[in-house]
Amino acid sequence: KRSFLFPSSPRFSIFSTRLGSTLVVAEHDGGAIRAPSLSALTATTCLPDSGSSVSLLLAGSGPSLHQAASHAASCHPSISQVLVADSDTFKSPLAEPWAKLVHMVQQRGGYSHIIAASSSFGKNVMPRAAALLDVSPVTDVTGISDSHTFVRPIYAGNALCTVRYTGAGPCILTIRATSFPAPQKSVDSKSNEASISQVDLSTFDEDLGKSRYISQTTQEDERPDLGNARIVVSGGRALKNAENFKLIENLAEKLGAAVGATRAAVDAGFVPNELQVGQTGKIVAPELYMAFGVSGAIQHIAGMRDSKVIVAVNNDADAPIFQVADYGLVGDLFEVIPELLEKLPEK
Ligand code: FAD
Repeated sequence: KRSFLFPSSPRFSIFSTRLGSTLVVAEHDGGAIRAPSLSALTATTCLPDSGSSVSLLLAGSGPSLHQAASHAASCHPSISQVLVADSDTFKSPLAEPWAKLVHMVQQRGGYSHIIAASSSFGKNVMPRAAALLDVSPVTDVTGISDSHTFVRPIYAGNALCTVRYTGAGPCILTIRATSFPAPQKSVDSKSNEASISQVDLSTFDEDLGKSRYISQTTQEDERPDLGNARIVVSGGRALKNAENFKLIENLAEKLGAAVGATRAAVDAGFVPNELQVGQTGKIVAPELYMAFGVSGAIQHIAGMRDSKVIVAVNNDADAPIFQVADYGLVGDLFEVIPELLEKLPEK
């Protein structure tokens, strides 16, 4: 296997891009590549000619970074090289050093495409990296027509726009993970294992400018992650308060589902804002989406319209949610949910 250690001085300028070579900027957690980044890898397979030369960039420090690198080397057939930037600077997901890292790796590698998932991390880092490289990013891509033509939603998902990238530098994309499903299983590690190389950080400028990392809190939750759950049970303003919202949580518990909410429910303080589904919340596409007391405003629909089966319960037969629902029940959620809880078998 070819191992490619980056030299300390750039060998390529950003203007000499290698045709059909892609850099995937990946997130990792607990020693494994996160699902949205696996979707970014799936997106590379839609780029003509890029499948043969995909490099995956990982950064962080400690044993979990090296576990993630081993996972990356065998997790997707399209990866030919894993680049590891090992430094405490990348311990936190602060965007500034990450953007500088992407810029530096691009100057050395001259990739034609740089892709990340359209997660909070990707949305934070990639436009900054694009600015450093003096190119315009194409964000929230849901379809790839050819190596420079992409489809992305506009007007809260009510229209799809086809964008042709004509810039001189690399094509920077963030992709919607729900549009590029990650493979269910890792490839056979023996039949496909990419090389792992360390990124030379000796010339890396660690100055964070005005930004300071303070802390990160994650909610300890046994429920599936909202972004990747197979089933999502969502509640809206109709729940009236946080106490009543426990009905949604109990139903989710029984179904092994993630909990979602409308912005109205979040703004009213029933649940924390990381549960918000929609244009300004999370984009989900589970196999089953159940909406209780959700009117179906376009901004909410923008976040869940790609769900495979949508079930809506609303006491207003004219609620717009019924226009996208596969199954609709006109009824009072305070009667329907207790009945469901009673009739559904224990897990
Ligand atoms: P409501 O619109 O008040 O609807 C409540 C529904 O519950 C009604 O349809 C009613 O008939 C039904 N109902 C009432 N009582 C019962 C009962 N007992 N049983 C059954 N049904 C009952 N919203 C999002 O969700 N996500 C976003 O990301 C988002 N982003 C936004 C971005 C912008 C720029 C703007 C302007 C708005 C955004 N919104 C978003 C807000 C959005 O426009 C709606 O205001 C919001 O989705 C409404 O939430 P809701 O359906 O819970 O409340």
